[in-house]
Amino acid sequence: MARRRSGIGAGAGGTRNISGNSHPIVELEAELADLHGKEAGLVFTSGYRLERAAISTIAKLLPDCLILSDELNHASMIEGIRRSGAQKRIFRHNDLEHLEELLRKPPPVAPKLIVFESVYSMDGDIAPIAGICDLAEKYGAMTYIDEVHAVGMYGPRGAGIAERDGVMHRIDVIEGTLAKAFGRVGGYITASRAVVDAVRSYAPGFIFTTALPPAIAAATTASIRHLKASQVERDLQQKHAQLTKSILIHAGLPVMPSETHIVPLFVGNPDLCKRASDMLLEEHGIYIQPINYPTVPRGTERLRITPTPCHDEKLILGLRDALVDVWHRLWLPLGRTAPATTARLVANGGTSHFDVFPPAGG
Ligand SMILES: *Cc1c(COP(=O)(O)O)cnc(C)c1O
Repeated sequence: MARRRSGIGAGAGGTRNISGNSHPIVELEAELADLHGKEAGLVFTSGYRLERAAISTIAKLLPDCLILSDELNHASMIEGIRRSGAQKRIFRHNDLEHLEELLRKPPPVAPKLIVFESVYSMDGDIAPIAGICDLAEKYGAMTYIDEVHAVGMYGPRGAGIAERDGVMHRIDVIEGTLAKAFGRVGGYITASRAVVDAVRSYAPGFIFTTALPPAIAAATTASIRHLKASQVERDLQQKHAQLTKSILIHAGLPVMPSETHIVPLFVGNPDLCKRASDMLLEEHGIYIQPINYPTVPRGTERLRITPTPCHDEKLILGLRDALVDVWHRLWLPLGRTAPATTARLVANGGTSHFDVFPPAGG
């Protein structure tokens, strides 16, 4: 009789269905389902791949599904919508009235899927999740939320904004990444067992690729369990984000309005944005990426600052001094408030993501 090997190895060894399944990955999915209060979880090798696969699979399985998508949704969601081949309508960013207007048109029995994010990572604003759930219930729509920029960081157990707002149970599919706050790699959905089984059974992006390595899965479970129990990191991050905003605003720097830990600093020009980033790195040893088109619409180029629990007041004051120096030398204006959020700038004639990744079906 062969002795069962106790070691698992560095790689998964195959796809989930063909010898790549492992105890740590099953345990991780159970942990995620518990985190979001859902029946089941499903892990993919990246959030991007997951969204392409999950949104398109769910929409394809619902006959004549109409997808309602926020205009500032992430590129991976737009890809998923395109791949589904389903009809789609874009609603103005976080605009409940516009969403309702679009929901009213199709017959009440027609399947509908509302696709949106909780935290929009370029502006740091938050979706009106409860309001979207009200509309979804009123018009019989399914809801799919991307909590990629919120998991680990919001909610009493780090399940995200829907947990913070007490509405997790009203959302059909909650999606997150394991690569940002949780610090590992991979993406996941949690939902009812039926939805998870549908995606597991029909999504090529799940079926035909090697599973997450077991060691990564185990390390991720440890990370989620830690953040479920520990509030210290969340409190410190919020404190440092608030401090960064107030210190930079006080210095006259154009901080764009943000409700979250994300601190966007308006530049409005791609070359100056890149040069500001280079100067910060080369002369001040501070790494902040320039966010240019197509990540944000033209004319809304910005530096995006994401303070962590470890960026304390001393570091924030150093950042302020470096930014003021760079702003002076590039002749960027100080003492003016940032012009507006991305949604407002898009409404005023900017370009949206859909110009770059035009969805199928026009
Ligand atoms: C980063 C990101 C993703 C992709 O997640 P990965 O796990 O890095 O592939 C999906 N959605 C949003 C909003 C993101 O910012």
